[in-house]
Amino acid sequence: MRPLLGGSATSAIRPAASPNCELCGAFDHDFHTVADCTHPVINRMNIITHNEGGQKVLTAFRNKGKQGNSAVIANLGNGDAAAHEHTLPAWLGLTSRKSPDILIIKGWTQQQLDAGKFPTSAASKKKVTLLFIEYKRCSDFKFDEIARQQVWEYYTPQPPLNQDQVNLFHQLRALGWTVQGLNADGKLGTTAAHDRMLPLLVGHAGFVLQSTVDTVFQAALGLSRAAANKLACALNAHQVASASKAFSAAARLKRLGPSPAAAPTEAGPSSAAAIPRATVPRRAQRPAGVG
Ligand SMILES: [Zn+2]
Repeated sequence: MRPLLGGSATSAIRPAASPNCELCGAFDHDFHTVADCTHPVINRMNIITHNEGGQKVLTAFRNKGKQGNSAVIANLGNGDAAAHEHTLPAWLGLTSRKSPDILIIKGWTQQQLDAGKFPTSAASKKKVTLLFIEYKRCSDFKFDEIARQQVWEYYTPQPPLNQDQVNLFHQLRALGWTVQGLNADGKLGTTAAHDRMLPLLVGHAGFVLQSTVDTVFQAALGLSRAAANKLACALNAHQVASASKAFSAAARLKRLGPSPAAAPTEAGPSSAAAIPRATVPRRAQRPAGVG
């Protein structure tokens, strides 16, 4: 049987198309447009999708989380749920500039934070628990890899560490902070073994892992099962709709041909420009019923 696509019949008719994106020149692939296209218009759309998704998570936490009145600091653009801020504020006592997407300070209210009060006294420090979450859009086939390479190796690398590597959670605990993280089995906790940052991954085609629903939405953010599933469905629908818009925009731009660069984007270190980073414990890779 002759293959439906490709092969000598096709290439005899016309030369093979360039494997590179007409808009940014990088290697093109099925999800290039929503993953790593650097054309300013497309890149900006992807950053907005990333930030909107993160804001949806924070809105769900605020409205439905058991500790939804906790102080939140987020690096997700300016949105309904949170303003753009550096998530490693100076009062934590660190000098790191790597800024994860979300910091929730359990045991400290938003009102206290807004009033300029920080839990830095010994007594306050004991009361609060820090929860960091890194939100990533990623290939639907590489959740594991993305979590490991782009969340853990970036923020919370595992021993043995190279000289230039630091684990953010080790640093914070050495300063007396209680930090929630994942252990090697993907379970949430605050012991020394829970030294991996929580990844919140949404696939380019909208997949959300069951482990994200269970561990991030329910265990860490304190959502009910129903609220957690609703959030997963909302992120799925948002990603699918956003991807569709990005593909349409890319097609339109390609029809128009090369155009002057659009306004510079506000890509931050953890914005959608660097999407294929982030993940989840290797055991829980069952996609949720939302894909
Ligand atoms: Zn491109």
